[in-house]
Amino acid sequence: MDTDVALLLHAKRDELDDQMATLELTPDDQGAISFGKRVGEGTSMAVDRLAQVAVHDGLQATRADVERALVKLDEGTYGTCDVCGRPIAEARLEALPWAVLCVEDQARR
Ligand SMILES: [Zn+2]
Repeated sequence: MDTDVALLLHAKRDELDDQMATLELTPDDQGAISFGKRVGEGTSMAVDRLAQVAVHDGLQATRADVERALVKLDEGTYGTCDVCGRPIAEARLEALPWAVLCVEDQARR
């Protein structure tokens, strides 16, 4: 079970690294790949770029949780909340295997 979680977390970390690498491409490359060209719409290009930065921030935050979850696996605290120390609900861990906080503390963060 723990081995499966470790594999899953490593796979997720690789996936996040790939996604961030894609976002870090220059806007021109990025546009060619996923947005298409919007000729003459400089403003919406800028908005796209801002949206990308927000997505990138989200990916980075998730990656930090994945890293923390891997450390917790090593420490033997995986599945318990980093703030209150109570067990994280199993359904939550199934949906978000990198969850390091219970629902209550996550909402407060
Ligand atoms: Zn908690």
